[in-house]
Amino acid sequence: MIGRIGPKLVLASHNKGKLKEIAELLAPFGIEAVPASEFGLPEPEETEDSFAGNALLKARFAAKGSGLPALSDDSGLCVEALGGEPGVYTADWAETGNGRDWLLAMTKVEDRLQALGPDASRAAEFVCVLALVWPDGREETFEGRVAGTLAWPPRGEMGFGYDPVFVPEGHRQSFAELDPAEKKAISHRAQAFAKLKAALGAA
Ligand code: IMP
Repeated sequence: MIGRIGPKLVLASHNKGKLKEIAELLAPFGIEAVPASEFGLPEPEETEDSFAGNALLKARFAAKGSGLPALSDDSGLCVEALGGEPGVYTADWAETGNGRDWLLAMTKVEDRLQALGPDASRAAEFVCVLALVWPDGREETFEGRVAGTLAWPPRGEMGFGYDPVFVPEGHRQSFAELDPAEKKAISHRAQAFAKLKAALGAA
């Protein structure tokens, strides 16, 4: 079990979906989760080359700026035949200079796979790392992964990001076709949260 967090924790994220999901997770433990924006903290630049590195960078920044324990999340898609790309650059692949375009990002992945020929592996995984950092310097990370294959063309209307091309192992539907509750139960984020919950003392 990790050390006591205390009644308040800062969430080092500016993503509304993540903030809601994490606040709901922590509420049963009597932990109030406050967004970093309420401390006037900006989002630091993600300069590390690993999910854990970027998650720790965000949580350290928020712990230092708030004086409270801080929790952050970093995630992305790793494609085996592309040497793990887009990886920590998953969101960047969608950048157009005028917002994010997820069809563009999924097409980039597909074009690179096609360029490798018909025998290229279509295996991929989503990875999520949660980082918990205390103001006194203690740090913990929790990693979740979900394996799957890449489908083309994109399928389904639910979810977000690369969900329409990701078919999790053991399923025929993409993450964007699956019932959201089912995705929530098996996702990389769910698995990282399960490890955090276990460490908080209630598996
Ligand atoms: P970040 O953790 O906010 O840097 O997000 C990384 C990017 O990974 C997101 O913008 C999404 O495009 C992608 N991503 C992470 N998790 C998922 C998921 O569950 N489904 C689809 N895309 C995801």
